[in-house]
Amino acid sequence: MININKSSIEEKSIKRHKGIIIEISQKTDVSIPKEYYRTTYSECWKCNKNILLFTWPGCRDENEIFRPKEPLPKTIQFRYSKTAGIKYWSNTCPYCGSLQGDFFLYSEPDSPLFGFVCGDDTIKSFDSDMKTLAIQ
Ligand SMILES: [Zn+2]
Repeated sequence: MININKSSIEEKSIKRHKGIIIEISQKTDVSIPKEYYRTTYSECWKCNKNILLFTWPGCRDENEIFRPKEPLPKTIQFRYSKTAGIKYWSNTCPYCGSLQGDFFLYSEPDSPLFGFVCGDDTIKSFDSDMKTLAIQ
């Protein structure tokens, strides 16, 4: 019984998450990748509008050599972060252009991706990560 309830709550969260990211995708004209790039959403720290956020295998290895897979979501840009002191592939806001830095996304307890560790580049890992993000 407990398992059935848990999975129906999960299913609802996944459905809800999917609905929200589709709506944001349509409003911002930023498409949702079907592989590699895991998609979630949050408010832009600057303009407070809901935006899509992407995370992908290896994206926390901040260095200038690492290059994520093509085609990149259009809000993923190679930008300089003052906080990190380096340039890296980062999420940006489609409305105001602000960098959504890794510190803001991952490091605070109320960060949208707090504690999230992206898996490897396989379909199985992609599906399980999307589920994790939906119920997070
Ligand atoms: Zn913004």
